[in-house]
Amino acid sequence: MLQGVVFMIDISDILAKYNTNDLTIATVCSHSSLQLFHGAKQEGYHTIGIVVGEERRKFYDAFPLGKPDEFLMVDDYKQILDLTGELQEKNTIIIPHGSFVEYLGADRFLTLELPTFGNRAVLQWESDRNMERKWLESAGLTMPREVTDPKNIEKPVIVKYHGAKGGKGFFIAKTYDEFKKRIQKNKEYTIQEFVMGTRYYLHYFYSPLQNNAYSLSKGSLQLLSMDRRDETTIDEVQRLGSIAELEEIGIHPTFVVTGNIPIVMRESLLPKVFVMGEQVVEESLKLFGGIIGSFCLETVVTEELEFKVFEISARIVAGTNPYIGGSPYSDLIQPNLSTGRRIAQEITYATKQKKLGEILS
Ligand code: AMP
Repeated sequence: MLQGVVFMIDISDILAKYNTNDLTIATVCSHSSLQLFHGAKQEGYHTIGIVVGEERRKFYDAFPLGKPDEFLMVDDYKQILDLTGELQEKNTIIIPHGSFVEYLGADRFLTLELPTFGNRAVLQWESDRNMERKWLESAGLTMPREVTDPKNIEKPVIVKYHGAKGGKGFFIAKTYDEFKKRIQKNKEYTIQEFVMGTRYYLHYFYSPLQNNAYSLSKGSLQLLSMDRRDETTIDEVQRLGSIAELEEIGIHPTFVVTGNIPIVMRESLLPKVFVMGEQVVEESLKLFGGIIGSFCLETVVTEELEFKVFEISARIVAGTNPYIGGSPYSDLIQPNLSTGRRIAQEITYATKQKKLGEILS
């Protein structure tokens, strides 16, 4: 069984009661759920969508292949805790995505009495920016330089509020004066060098069980796809004028994610992509028992062709959604392989090997 933080639930008793020949896959209807349901159905699983409100339920009718077999309606996502008995009876495995954790809340997520794909212990390393930096830097990755005292701002920086979702409220400052004008004093923040370059969000899949890909000390690593986020307003603000011009009249760019754009990378950079993934996984095995399944490194490639990693997401990211029918990378593993389908395959493999406890927490 995965080892992690002390306050995390131990699912071994729940799993012991499951009929593993009749598993259900469930998630919250949001984020990457169309892909997750589609992938699970492709692999023959019964699927359940947990949904708030008729409006959100209804649009799944328009996508029959991505619609869950069954809906569980709730008034508030926190009610998922009241559904655990029913979901356990249906031998349910939860696939958490970013919105699942956000809607439920990290504390409730950690104690949710349902087998969950991946290692929940990663949450404490991912949700605290200092812990995240410790993990990634001790793994040997290069992160953007941190500016601890705003008075030392000499080059463009990006100021990130802790816990801000989807880049909300982030701002760029080029001087201490600019920083002082924009900062909201009551909030915790981090100041990072604004890295000049092109962004790539790399979607990996780590299997601790299978040795059929880029091999690691335990199991193997795949690269399933990559995307670039489309962020309003920064990505289109130049339609109106340069950022400097606009800032002079009080219009500041924002970094709110609205969508995802498919992308591939020059092939000569791929070896480095795998080395970075390897370093992250190997360090995670030492620190907290391993990052299992899908994860994403958010990177900027500089003109020296160096990667700077500014963030890690430790579960399926919405950037995998352009690839419900496969990506230029996953197609070289298996045609039409999405991340959602890959997750379902890992559950099937682990079930057959009687090793579900090694990929669930
Ligand atoms: P994050 O919440 O850390 O993913 O950041 C939101 C967005 O801000 C990213 O998707 C990037 O577009 C941008 N960003 C974050 N950190 C940096 C950085 N150090 N340099 C340049 N852009 C960044």
